[in-house]
Amino acid sequence: MKVRVNDGACHGHQMCAIAAPEVFGSDDYGNAVVLIEGDLPADLEAKARRAEGNCPERAITIEE
Ligand code: SF4
Repeated sequence: MKVRVNDGACHGHQMCAIAAPEVFGSDDYGNAVVLIEGDLPADLEAKARRAEGNCPERAITIEE
């Protein structure tokens, strides 16, 4: 499972980083970045899905 953030849609709430701090950080502008390249470790998948579901801008995409 891979995670992406759509820069153009992200508004920098950082709710994703609160839900999954191992997966999401922020860039110099406060927008979310994905900290893990490639496939997520299995133990972080549930947190990443929670972050996707809670993103108010629908800026997070999960690829199976
Ligand atoms: S919750 Fe969504 S809009 Fe907010 S920082 Fe995270 S990816 Fe961006």
